Amino acid sequence: MNEIKIKAMGKINLGLDVLRRRPDGYHEVRMIMQNVELGDTLRFVKTEEEGISIRTNKKDLPVDEQNLVYKAIRLMQEEYQLPGGIRVSLEKQIPVAAGMAGGSTDAAASLVAMNRLFNLKLTEERLRELGLKLGADVPFCIMGGTALAEGIGEMLTSLPKAPACYVLIARPDISVSTKEVYESLQEEGIVSHPDIDGMIQAIWKKNLSGVVERMENVLEAVTVKKHPVIEKIKDKMRQEGALEAMMSGSGPTVFGIFADAVSAGEAYKQIVASGLSAQTYVTRFADCGQVVLAEE
Ligand code: ATP
Repeated sequence: MNEIKIKAMGKINLGLDVLRRRPDGYHEVRMIMQNVELGDTLRFVKTEEEGISIRTNKKDLPVDEQNLVYKAIRLMQEEYQLPGGIRVSLEKQIPVAAGMAGGSTDAAASLVAMNRLFNLKLTEERLRELGLKLGADVPFCIMGGTALAEGIGEMLTSLPKAPACYVLIARPDISVSTKEVYESLQEEGIVSHPDIDGMIQAIWKKNLSGVVERMENVLEAVTVKKHPVIEKIKDKMRQEGALEAMMSGSGPTVFGIFADAVSAGEAYKQIVASGLSAQTYVTRFADCGQVVLAEE
């Protein structure tokens, strides 16, 4: 096989709890991870000449060794002594640095691509192990679907498909530093913890309102304090019919859950017209982390 095209899905957190800060500085979390169909498209081509080259539609995104795609390919080349090089085209659609694991899902797709291109026959478990070297969210992006993530995000328990709904994604034009968010959380403390176990039960029962009423993200209070636009978007989504709205990850992306396509579509128009969001999409839950679109 010489080339492969993969769609790499973004994620949202339906629930995000932080349990404690470990002595090594990492935070122990309990999160409900959910893939969404909003995704990046990556095409990988084997080349005879050595090296990794990346082209992307996203201005300002590094295409050198800072790109997670680059890091993932190099990891596989070194680990398995792979010959030749790889040319990648990366079409970004997932908002960058937005709490949607865009870089992590691209890295996951790169590991999957290399496994297939070189017929390495690595198990999902091995790919998840390699993925963890690239980032805490990468193992989930390999597993995909709906999952409970514990530890620093790498201890995964697969959950059944979450109840179907429409998801409105809005990314305001602000940047948030994940490191600063966790530091502020440390100083300010956590007032209330989300009911993650209750949400898991609601997912098993396919009870959308049970899921929605337990949506909570402990990082939200910290980020909202610095960026009130996040609360404004949440309010707007609720006004426009969202069952609930919440920030994903450390932000700044906000998502709203809608019961049907019509109300999600109407809310999309209102959010765009409000000028509060710089990137707005309607999407749905995805039941996998990546899909192979073509290979030859
Ligand atoms: P998470 O939800 O896992 O915290 P995120 O969605 O907040 O991640 P990313 O979109 O992964 O953040 O981007 C974080 C940083 O990673 C950006 O500053 C970006 O420059 C860098 N980066 C490296 N490779 C990529 C990639 N392929 N796509 C997006 N960002 C990348």
